[in-house]
Amino acid sequence: MVNWPLLADAVTMGLILLDEGGRVLHWNAWVTRHSGVALAQAQGRPLEEVFPDALPQPFRQAVRNGLQRRLPIVLSNVLHHSPLPLFSRHEHRAGNLRMPQSVTITPVAQPGAHHLCLIQVTDASVVTKRERVLQSRTDKLTREAVVDGLTGVYNRKYFDQKLSAELERAQRSHTPVSLLMLDVDSFKAYNDTYGHPAGDRVLIAIADAVREQVNRATDVLARYGGEEFAAVLPASDKLGAQGIAEKIRRAVEALAIPHAASTVAAYVTVSLGVACHDARSPCTATELLEMADRALYDAKRNGRNQVRWTVSGASPLDSFPSTLR
Ligand code: GH3
Ligand code: MG
Ligand code: MG
Repeated sequence: MVNWPLLADAVTMGLILLDEGGRVLHWNAWVTRHSGVALAQAQGRPLEEVFPDALPQPFRQAVRNGLQRRLPIVLSNVLHHSPLPLFSRHEHRAGNLRMPQSVTITPVAQPGAHHLCLIQVTDASVVTKRERVLQSRTDKLTREAVVDGLTGVYNRKYFDQKLSAELERAQRSHTPVSLLMLDVDSFKAYNDTYGHPAGDRVLIAIADAVREQVNRATDVLARYGGEEFAAVLPASDKLGAQGIAEKIRRAVEALAIPHAASTVAAYVTVSLGVACHDARSPCTATELLEMADRALYDAKRNGRNQVRWTVSGASPLDSFPSTLR
């Protein structure tokens, strides 16, 4: 023969049985332990009286529905975080730090008698904690999927998506959008001279310096290739983008990272190509990238450590080194 009261006290959840008037008939040891109220103090009294001022309206309504309409109800832990004054630890009581709870209210039929109402409570903190861990893992994976591991700026895949989206938006809103391409000068020689790990540190320093200049909330900076970075600057016209590109060039120069093998300067330098789309005519991401690439190639060919730019739909006269602006 099963000893039901013993079993009820053994389960690791709260069981509260109410009569048809909402009075406590029974609750198990779990409820006593976590409420701090002995069964004898509660028996025969309405739950609302046992826990005065402590039961939220939706919970009381759910119990009424259970008793009067015989409706089973699950109170989700998300919407009804801690309806009962239950505490995981004794010391939480003072600060009213209630345990997160999942509550199920079930009408219990009795042949030939009034319905009773069973309230089942589980400690949802384990679930909440697991959800938090899963969420933080998801956040980490989401971040890793879009971020370059070495420099912490976005990766190329994310950049390509953003560039297309920003171009479409620019076209819809008739606002300009600019694209910067940056390539480190004589970087192979840098690696050959100082070693690959030192080269990695340079890429990190450059990414940090560029990030300081590409700082609008809508700007997207990415590592586009080995020692190439790209930035999309929404709502930036030719002048704005050139200004930023020039600031980046100077910021890298100001890092004053010695580069004895450079064909350009005594320090590490970068070349930049700027492509501006003024939204007057359609332009694809590929076209804009090619424009920026051509401008970058011009900057390299003309001696490196400089900014060159192109404007979409512009005449060849619109392509100048930024110093001639
Ligand atoms: P240029 O001025 O024409 O750009 O010359 P460059 O030497 O920079 O150009 P090149 O394309 O010949 O060399 C790029 C170098 O970048 C070669 C490669 O070893 C280095 N590189 C690419 N990715 C990384 C990386 O993740 N870390 C390091 N340290 N070096 C890298
Ligand atoms: Mg390169
Ligand atoms: Mg290079």
